[in-house]
This record gives sequence, C-alpha cells and structure tokens, in this order.
Amino acid sequence: MGRPSISARRILVQALSILGLAAGYFAAGKFGLSLALVNTSTTAVWPPTGIALAALLLLGLRVWPGIAIGAFLVNLTTTGDLGSSVGIAVGNTLEAIVGAHLVNKFANGSRAFERPQDVLKFAFFAALLGTVVSATIGTISLALAGLAAAGSMGAIWLTWWLGDASGAIVVAPVLLTWTHSDLRAQSSRLIERVALLAAVVLTGLLLFGGGEPLSLSRDPVAFLSFPVLIWAAYRFGPRETTAVLLIVAIIADWGTLHGFGPFARSDQNESLLLLQAFMGVAAVTSEMLAAAVLDRKRAEATVRTAEQRLRAVAEESARLREEFLSIATHELRTPLSGLRGYLQLAGQSLDRGQHNRVREGFQSALRQSDRLAALIAQLLDASQMQAGTLVIEPVTTDVSELVARSVEAERLGKESHRWVVEIASDLRASLDPIRFEQVVVNLLENAMKFTPAGGTIIVRLTGGAAEVRLEISDQGIGISRDRIDRIFERFYRAHDDRGLAGLGLGLYIARQIVQHHDGEIGVTSEPGHGSTFTVTVPRTMAEVARPTTEPVREQGVRTGRVLVVDDDPDIRALVAEVLRDAGISVASAKDGEEALAEAARIRPDVILLDKLMPGMDGTKFALVYRAAGKAAPIIAFCAARDAPQWAAAIGAVSYIGKPFDVKDLERLVLEQLPAIA
Ligand code: ADP
Repeated sequence: MGRPSISARRILVQALSILGLAAGYFAAGKFGLSLALVNTSTTAVWPPTGIALAALLLLGLRVWPGIAIGAFLVNLTTTGDLGSSVGIAVGNTLEAIVGAHLVNKFANGSRAFERPQDVLKFAFFAALLGTVVSATIGTISLALAGLAAAGSMGAIWLTWWLGDASGAIVVAPVLLTWTHSDLRAQSSRLIERVALLAAVVLTGLLLFGGGEPLSLSRDPVAFLSFPVLIWAAYRFGPRETTAVLLIVAIIADWGTLHGFGPFARSDQNESLLLLQAFMGVAAVTSEMLAAAVLDRKRAEATVRTAEQRLRAVAEESARLREEFLSIATHELRTPLSGLRGYLQLAGQSLDRGQHNRVREGFQSALRQSDRLAALIAQLLDASQMQAGTLVIEPVTTDVSELVARSVEAERLGKESHRWVVEIASDLRASLDPIRFEQVVVNLLENAMKFTPAGGTIIVRLTGGAAEVRLEISDQGIGISRDRIDRIFERFYRAHDDRGLAGLGLGLYIARQIVQHHDGEIGVTSEPGHGSTFTVTVPRTMAEVARPTTEPVREQGVRTGRVLVVDDDPDIRALVAEVLRDAGISVASAKDGEEALAEAARIRPDVILLDKLMPGMDGTKFALVYRAAGKAAPIIAFCAARDAPQWAAAIGAVSYIGKPFDVKDLERLVLEQLPAIA
C-alpha cells in the first residue's frame, strides 16, 4: 500500500513541476518575445533562460521536459512554424541542461551565489558558455526554416546569445537565492531596507527610466547605478542584491526601449544589447561582492562557534577536575578517618589495659592504610597512563598459576561469596606479571564489591590456539545499558549513586594494561543479574623464565652499621627504631651532603637511600659517594612505583618501596649485613 502511493505521489509532483516549469517558461518567453526586434523569434531580453537554469538546479535535471514544452509552445504560437519551433526547443533545453550540469559540477549547484569564486564560475559556464548552444541551434533553426535572412544571421546570433546570457545572470540568481531560506538576513533592518528600495527605484528612474534630467540627456552615467548595488551587497546579502539587480534591469529595459537613458540608440536592438552587456557586468560584480561578504560572515560565525565550543570544553574539563577532586578527596578521606579512628581506639584500649582490642585496632588501622596506599597507587598509575609513561616489562608467564594465586589471595579469609573456579593448566603468555595481576585483582574485587553476599563468582581461564581467555562472571547488580559503554573511562562510576567506594579508575587502568599487552578487555552485563568481564591476551608456547634463585645466605646473627638517608624526620626516626630493635646501630642524614659526611665518619655497612630530597638528592649522592672509593651497598628506599627502576638506575643491591612493611625492611637490611662469627 505504502510503496505505490509514495511513488505515485512522486510522479505527480514531478508532472506538476514539469507543467509549472512549462507554464512559467511560456509566460516569460511571451514577455521576452514581445521585445523581439531583430527577428520575431529573437530578443535581447530572455528571462526564460534564467527560469530554466534555476529550475534544473533546484528541482534536478529530470524536469527538462518542462523547458522543451514551454520553448516549443512559445515559438509555435509566435511563428506558427513547426520545424523551427522544434529546433529552438531542442536548443533551449540543451542550453539549460549543459549550463546546469556544469554549474552542478563546478560551481556548487543551486548554491552558486554564496561564494565569489562560484559566482564567477556560474557566469562563465551558465551565462557565457551554455548559452552558445541555444544561440547557435536557434539561429540555424530559423535559417533552415527560412525565417532569418542570410545577412542578419550574425546579429540574430549575438542578440540571442546576449539575451540568454543576461537572463541567466539576472533572473536565475533571484530564484536561487530566494529559495534558500538560510540566506535570509539575520536582522531585518526594515528602515534601511525601505531606504534601499526607494534609492534603487529612484536610481533606476533617474538613470534609465525617463527621470529628469539624467536619463533624458543620454549621458554615459550608467555607472551611477553601482552605489545602490554595492549598498545591497555590502549591507544585506545575495538575496537583496539579486532583487535590486532585477528591479534595475526591469526599469532599464523598459526605459531603454522607450528611448531613455545612457544606452538608448536609434536602433532599439542595439540599445538593448548595450544595456544587457552593462547589466551582465554589473550583475556579476555585485553578486560576487555579496557572496564575498556572506562568505566572510559565515567564516566569522564559524570562528565564533569554534570559540564557544572551546570555551564549553574548557568549562567541562574544569567541571570534571572539580568533580574528580571531590571524589578523590572523599575516597581518600574514608580510609584516612578509619585509620585515625582505629588508632585512637587502640590508644584508649591501651589506657584501659585491653590488649586484645589494641591488637584488633592496629590490625584494622593497617587494613585502612593498605586501602589508602592502593587508592594513591591507582591515582599514580592513572596519571602515568595519561602521560603515556607506563612501563611494561613482559616475560613468559604461567597465567594459570598467576590467576589461581590471585583468586586464592582474594578468597582468603572471606566467606562472603560462593566461588566456581575453572582454570586450565599451563597456559602461558608474554606478560608483565605484576601489571597483569593488577588487572585480575581489580576484576575480582569489583566482582565481589558489586555482588551481594551469598552470590556466586565464576572464574574461568581457557586457552585457544592463539590466545588465553579469562572470564570473570558475577551475579551482582550488573550495569545498565546506557552506562556500560563508559565504564572503562577514567573516573567513570556507573553506580556512583549507590554509595559504593571507588575512584572509577580500576577499569581504566586495567584496559590500558591489557592493551599494552596487545590484548582486549570487554564486558557484557544484564542489569540486576550480573556481569561478565573477559580478558584475552596472545598465547605463547615459550618456556616460562624461572627466576634464578639466589644462594641462601648462611643464617646466623648479623649486625653492623646502617646509614638512613631521608628528608622526612618521622620516617628516619621510625626506621632507626625498627633497626635498633633488631640490634643494629643506626645513623641518619636528611640529605645527600649530610649523608656524605656521616658516611665518612661512621663507615656504614649498608645505606638506606631516599630518592627525592632537597639539596643533594639520592641519585646525586649515589654518584658522588661511589666515586669516592670503597662504598657500602645501597638499598633504594622510595615511592613503591618508582623503586625497582630507580634501584636499577643507581646500581642498588635491592629496594623497598614506601609505604613499607617494617618486617620486610628489617629482613632486607639484615641480608646485607655481615654475620657475627
Ligand atoms: P571503581 O573503583 O569505581 O570500582 P572501576 O573502574 O573498577 O572503578 O569500575 C568502574 C565502574 O564500573 C564502577 O564504579 C561500577 O559502577 C562499574 N562496575 C565495575 N565492575 C562491575 C561489576 N562487576 N558489576 C557491576 N558494575 C561494575
């Protein structure tokens, strides 16, 4: 039902367009031929060319039959000669088709009057070139029908061509510019419009229309029409300019035929030819100016919108920064308050002699400080990734073992969820084990966080021919369809309204890490029923590189002198106390220079060295100290993320990151000290 009616409507619209075009062409043609002076069929004023061009440009080349019908009828009813009418109709139709085709191809089609270069191309292709077709075929048709004397052929051709050309350049632009509503002026400026109209009519009448004294004297003052044209072009735009041109053309045609104005000659046809040449030049010039002004206004508007968009982006990024700061401070403050609270509680319990509660309080405080450290690490990771400085150190890794270990660690001591774990053994990939474990742990923690107690979490690791595939499914709250596409973005939290903690960075970091391994991470979810996160990485068949185990150092009591170099007095004091408790003698220094002096004085057995310090920093100290001769081993002691790389860079024997575990610190230092015989 729908299809035939649509195509029937289309046919009807097309038929009506063709008939309308034929009628318009016929009426304009009759008017034009009423001014035919060299020959009954040849006139210096031929508006139908403009109508035909505009119609083909606006409605499409397929309405050409309207031109053929109109042209045929207008000539048949004028001369009564069938043969020449057919010939002329063919010529006029071809003229419009050739002109419209070239304008479509080279001059932006129906929008040719919106850029100066297109106006020029329109004038060349449609007014100067296309019209040659019609003038030539028309003149030959008349000659063949015996309607044109051999001697007048040149004059007929020139009149025909010029009449068509001025029709193309004066009439078509009016129709084209007034059809496109976006060319309407922004402000109406009514008073100025009325003034312009009055000036145009007055100028027309004074110069061409018989107005005293100029148009009677026939002085060559046609150029005086330019000010109104420029006014229209400069202050208004293409529409007003084309309208003004049409008004001037009508008055000038009428006046010139009646013997007024600068172009009036004794030969009326000659007068009209001169006038059309003038109008053609005036039209192209002012239409180009109008287009140039419009072009500039549009460019300004584009710049303005771009500026507005940039401003909006800047505002949005400021808003995001604010939002992030508020989320980050809130998220950091939560474990910090926990930490503080548990320490206070422990203090109170100590006063009351409740030793068990003291221990519990300290354990909870430690958990809170781990949480705090994890959040800070996430922030650091994200900023590193944003800066593109993430370092991945892949080695052949047993993924099966890595995933199994991570799941065990997560499950340890938590009975809140049921677990289904299916891990195919011996699946290997080239991975940075620490970074990949971070991904697995993040997905497992999310699964637990977003699944109510008692829900099941399924971990499945399988191997394909070329990939290793990890699936972590939960029976949690899921993620709604409109949010799921954003969860890998920085700081995006799909459930920020539910009061669940998180910075919205874990999945962003996970995706960055997986992508650095040439892998993929994706998610499917059914809101209310759960989510499944899938990670795939390229599989390798290479052997796992086992770290060469260091020979176990002989056990026994160890002691010696340690120099602690750190700019933070609390850290220095803490380390000193921990080590002194282990029977080690400790000296400390707050920067590189002090450390050099202390080292010379006490000759330490091992140096614990911070990286960033005011004055001489750790890197510089290591360099200067080593250059001085026999040097003690250095243990790098800085922010956890930097520690391994920095240790390697300064040739340290080992490293310990901050925050640190006091037991690890003691072990590492003791390892470097000589045993007591
Ligand atoms: P967050 O620290 O907020 O958990 P993530 O980047 O790890 O940050 O996750 C981003 C968001 O994706 C979470 O805030 C949550 O809304 C959603 N999300 C992640 N994992 C799950 C899951 N297993 N079930 C439901 N929603 C999840």
